Amino acid sequence: MATDIKIVEAPEGFEGSGFFATSFDKVVGLARSHSLWPLPFATSCCGIEFMSTMASRYDLARFGSERPSFSPRQADMLLVAGTIAKKMAPVLKQVYLQMAEPRWVIAIGACASSGGVFDTYSVLQGIDRVIPVDVYVPGCPPRPEQILEGIMQVRELTHNESLRRRNGAEYQALLASYNIQ
Ligand code: SF4
Repeated sequence: MATDIKIVEAPEGFEGSGFFATSFDKVVGLARSHSLWPLPFATSCCGIEFMSTMASRYDLARFGSERPSFSPRQADMLLVAGTIAKKMAPVLKQVYLQMAEPRWVIAIGACASSGGVFDTYSVLQGIDRVIPVDVYVPGCPPRPEQILEGIMQVRELTHNESLRRRNGAEYQALLASYNIQ
């Protein structure tokens, strides 16, 4: 006996008993934002603050980011903490290139953001000279609370930034401006 199946178009946010309607993008974004694996690229004092952020007092595990990935291929979020010498810039770029999309970058502290106090010939005046940065965390060094806030900002981006936007023309143009394909 044929069963009558009704297909009802449900707008986003529509809910009823035991169900609600949402978009695939939002489900993917929600899952991602609760499992961002960090890759610490720590070169100096700001790296110590990142260690503190990972420890029990600040407990990054609460947000699903307790697993630092030392392989760029298994990391979602590049955390650059410390002074980056110009000689190190190609290495940083190589690490970024080895990360799979979607990937996010946080510049932790004044040195990573702008060179900080090291306005000198040998220091990169901000990592955004070589790779795109999503979030800048100010401070010299920033406190763990600030680093956590930076990670929360990335979670927010992850939540709202769909795969399509990452593959979109604007993002591709940004990568092209860094000579990254
Ligand atoms: Fe050190 Fe300050 Fe530079 Fe951080 S911003 S690496 S604390 S000098």
